[in-house]
Amino acid sequence: MYDYIIVGSGFFGSVCARELTDRGFKCLVLEKRNHIGGNCHTEKVDGINMHTYGPHIFHTSNERVWKWINQFATFNHFTNRPIANYKGELFALPFNMWTFNQLWGVTHPHEAKAIIAEQSKEIGEPQNLEEQAIKLVGRDVYEKLIKGYTSKQWMKPPNELPKEIIKRLPVRFTYDTNYFNDPYQGIPIGGYTQIFDQLLAGIEVQLETDYLADKLAWDAKARNIIFTGPIDAYYDYQFGPLEYKTTRFEHKKLTDTDNYQGVPVMNYTDAETPYTRIIEYKHFEFGQTDTTCITYEYPEPYVAKVTEPYYPVNDQENNAIFGQYKALADAEANVYFGGRLAEYKYYDMHQIIERAFDLLDQLNAGQA
Ligand code: FAD
Ligand code: UDP
Repeated sequence: MYDYIIVGSGFFGSVCARELTDRGFKCLVLEKRNHIGGNCHTEKVDGINMHTYGPHIFHTSNERVWKWINQFATFNHFTNRPIANYKGELFALPFNMWTFNQLWGVTHPHEAKAIIAEQSKEIGEPQNLEEQAIKLVGRDVYEKLIKGYTSKQWMKPPNELPKEIIKRLPVRFTYDTNYFNDPYQGIPIGGYTQIFDQLLAGIEVQLETDYLADKLAWDAKARNIIFTGPIDAYYDYQFGPLEYKTTRFEHKKLTDTDNYQGVPVMNYTDAETPYTRIIEYKHFEFGQTDTTCITYEYPEPYVAKVTEPYYPVNDQENNAIFGQYKALADAEANVYFGGRLAEYKYYDMHQIIERAFDLLDQLNAGQA
């Protein structure tokens, strides 16, 4: 009998597995995929750590989380400064004085603010992503850097998307091109998989095992379940499938150059280019290899049970469906739901670690 069967070996599941094991509980981790680490998994290819499911940059304001994660890897001083490519014109991201200078030739914050105020004067309280974006950065930035990218990324027009999505990005009237505001940021030297190897060291892990395919049998073997997969799948889609956004990652090794784009993240912000961005991983670790690896990210329609759910689509309709699933989840006695898919929230890694700490506190799991 296990004290906990933990479904999923991403950050949520692995943090819980490590901490509960260290407190003396007997844990088993079940993972559907053939590797650990969930979407943070990395794999070394020709000396370069490829991020299998898209680029993962660790950033946090939470000192506890930063100290905790630094036990498992050494983080480098990488700072994310992505570039937007709009039909060959390059712009600095996130939206900052460099962006406004490149777009309008302005050099001082008050000039940029005046243009934005003029371009957004028709917008009252923003009701959707389009209005929120125009309010924050004006119509020109919206048209060149947001409209096409967002429509591709979410496969929906921005006026049908929640405004919160765009608030993830800083808007700055300084020449600071750091994509994040957090004081702690970096990439684990050697990739993320080493972190999961350590988190799950000495813990029983069963790969290529879909818990839901044999749910009753697994339930009979555990006092408690921690589920980190999609909550709608757990409840067999009884209130209908939740909507997610998915992506196809096309990885390519280039042998004719050691430096393809000079930056790890280049966003293609026009509507016509079929991919949203190209990632060149070696720059995350200042790599010096003779070849390079890049990944094209193609948004694709999500089909429940068929394609991978990556991003929750937190609009009103989906949040209402999620509310129905959550009511069932809250009534469960020994099943705990956590992580991006089970909580249906657009969480980053550091937030997932915080949420796992919260669950561990809630379990009040002293020594077994
Ligand atoms: P996951 O990592 O999704 O792990 C869940 C695991 O559960 C998966 O391995 C899955 O196979 C398994 N599972 C599901 N159902 C079952 C089942 N029935 N049986 C067995 N196993 C099951 N965050 C950042 O902080 N910085 C970034 O730069 C960043 N970039 C991102 C880029 C992309 C393209 C994506 C998709 C996400 C990005 N994130 C980033 C977010 C980050 O990936 C998540 O916050 C984190 O991976 C969530 O961890 P998790 O444990 O909740 O879920
Ligand atoms: N976004 C955009 N243009 C960009 C980058 C981001 O319009 O060049 C928008 C887009 O809607 C995206 C959101 O900002 O979904 C949040 O961006 P972030 O980089 O946080 O998204 P993620 O990496 O999670 O896809």
